[in-house]
Amino acid sequence: MNRRFLIAAALVLASAPALAQAPQRPPFSTTKVEGTDNVYIFRYGNHQSMFVVTSAGVIATDPISYGRPQAATTYIDEIKKVTDKPIKYLIYSHHHYDHIAGGQPFKDAGAKIVAHKKAKERLAVLKDPATPLPDETMDKSKTIKLGGTTLELSYIGLNHSDTSIVMRLPKEKILFVVDFIPVGQVPGRGMIDFYPLEAERSIKRVLSMDWERMIPGHPGVGDRLGTKQDVQDQLTFLQDASAAVKAAAREGKCWEPAEKEVKLPKYEKWPGYENNLQFVTRRYCGLWGRGT
Ligand SMILES: [Zn+2]
Repeated sequence: MNRRFLIAAALVLASAPALAQAPQRPPFSTTKVEGTDNVYIFRYGNHQSMFVVTSAGVIATDPISYGRPQAATTYIDEIKKVTDKPIKYLIYSHHHYDHIAGGQPFKDAGAKIVAHKKAKERLAVLKDPATPLPDETMDKSKTIKLGGTTLELSYIGLNHSDTSIVMRLPKEKILFVVDFIPVGQVPGRGMIDFYPLEAERSIKRVLSMDWERMIPGHPGVGDRLGTKQDVQDQLTFLQDASAAVKAAAREGKCWEPAEKEVKLPKYEKWPGYENNLQFVTRRYCGLWGRGT
C-alpha cells in the first residue's frame, strides 16, 4: 500500500461517522402547510414549490425539474395522491431553469402556464427544449380565482431577476417567494444576475404586503417558513453587505482583495456564510467598484 492510498483510506474512515450520523432526507416530500386545508409544499431535492388544491382544480407552481424530468412526473403523482381534480395552472415564479424547467407534463395534463411577460421574452430567445413557453403572461398584477381560492400574482420590480413574481394567498395570508428572499441563509451563486439597489425596494414592498407566512423556493433553515422578521433580516444583511463592499470598493479593493477581505461576522452562523459570501461581495463589487 502506498502512502497516498493510506492517507485516502484514513480520510474515508475519519469522515464515515459523520456520514453515518447525517439524517437521511428522502429525495422528495409533499407537506400540507399547517393551519390550511388546501395549501401544499412539494419539495424535490433542495427546491420546492407551492400547490393549491381547490374544488375546481389545482394551481401548481414551478416544476423544479432542471436536469431531472422525473421531478415533474413525481410532482404530478404527488398532486394526484391528494386530489383527483385536474391541474388547471402552472405558474412560473421567474425565468431561472432550476425552478421552471420540465413543465411539459403539466401542459400535457391540461395546465395553462402563466408567467411574467419578461420571462416569456427571455425563454423565447433561449428556446430551452425542456422549458415550454408560458401560455399566458402578466405585467404588474394578475388575480387567479379558482374554486373559491384567490391567488394574487404581483410583479414588484427588479430583485433576484427581472421576471420574479410574488404569489399571495390573501385568505390564508401565505406568500410564495422564490430566490429573492432566502429564509435565514446567505444567498450564493444566484447573486450573479441580482439587481442590488432595486432589490432593496422590492423587499420593502414585500414587507408592506399583508401576509403571515412565506414559503421559500428553497427549504428554509429547519424547513421552516419565513416570517416578516426573516424578510427584514435578509434586507439588513444585504444593506450591511452593500455598505461593507462600498467601503472596500472606494479603497480600490474590488474585485479580488474585497472578495477575500470583506467579512460580516454578524452573519457567520447563517448557513452559506463561508461558501457564499464571496458571491455576495462579487455582486456588490460590480455595483460599487464598477458602476453596475
Ligand atoms: Zn432564481
